[in-house]
Amino acid sequence: MRDGTGRTIDYMRISITDRCNLRCRYCMPEGIQCLPREEILTYREIEEIAACAADLGIRHLKITGGEPLVRRGCAGLVGRLKEIPGIETVTITTNGVLLADVLDELLAAGIDGINISLDTLNSDRYRELTGGGDIGRVLTGLGRAAETEVPVKINAVSLDLGAENWRQLLELGRDRKVDVRFIEMMPIGYGKNFPALDHRSLLEEMRRIYPGMERDERRHGFGPAVYYRIPGFLGSAGLISAIHGKFCSSCNRVRLTAQGYLKTCLCYHDGTDLREILRREETEEERRELLKQAMEEAIRRKPGAHCFERPEAITEGENMIRIGG
Ligand code: SAM
Ligand code: SF4
Repeated sequence: MRDGTGRTIDYMRISITDRCNLRCRYCMPEGIQCLPREEILTYREIEEIAACAADLGIRHLKITGGEPLVRRGCAGLVGRLKEIPGIETVTITTNGVLLADVLDELLAAGIDGINISLDTLNSDRYRELTGGGDIGRVLTGLGRAAETEVPVKINAVSLDLGAENWRQLLELGRDRKVDVRFIEMMPIGYGKNFPALDHRSLLEEMRRIYPGMERDERRHGFGPAVYYRIPGFLGSAGLISAIHGKFCSSCNRVRLTAQGYLKTCLCYHDGTDLREILRREETEEERRELLKQAMEEAIRRKPGAHCFERPEAITEGENMIRIGG
């Protein structure tokens, strides 16, 4: 469907848990309280919302969290979402720690793409950044996933850790058909306090180190990344520059939090509480009608642009772990 400013909204990120097996310092440092389980949507409830969303024109779903693979039955959910009429792709974003264990199940369920979050290849730094994570497990998952036909992308938040850090990450795409994307840190939750790279200077540096780098206009997915081809690399490099490359005019997405709140922009609390409707004592038919009405109305009012450049205007008080990135 179209929002109030005429943008086509066909992509929904679904956070299926606020729990995680890592503690990335900019997302979920030690000590954050998890929600009581009854506050989290059941798979049945998620499927009901996804079916309504599909009726409204959502075509692409991204499963996120918290860490989606810590919730039991995640691959089963992927399979059921894929069966919803109108849904064309279901992809997942994961920290990769459990990926090798569940890869076969995800493939059998028909997963259409796997994004792995990895901010550094230095194992000590990784452990420090993620509150104890074992990079070996992530690299095993990445290696296995990259051998399949399913598109695999690496997502790295552009932390200011020196040129060697981002260069090593980019090199993952040299011999593997894996896109390596850098994401500008957004001033949401703990991300506010992190020294991050400005993508304008990152791009300049990338061009200097890889002189033959050229824009890659092929379609790689349904998001706002700008891609580049580097001579001799199988994968492409991507930049997602929410701050210095504001892409709000082509924004195509909404987000469903683990508690069932439909968020229409990362920057603001705007949206609608779908869980409240789901848990009313209505018939399924009535509930679906109410869900669709609420979603339609929220999407129509979707803010025209984020306000990350004016932090005082941000009304989102949650951490990324609750929003899903
Ligand atoms: N656990 C999964 C993972 O790490 O991919 C999914 C959830 S995580 C919240 C989704 C993405 O959000 C990760 O790539 C993470 O690096 C990113 N993220 C977290 N906080 C962020 C921030 N303040 N700005 C930009 N990206 C952020
Ligand atoms: Fe967990 Fe992903 Fe947040 Fe790291 S970024 S703490 S892996 S949810």
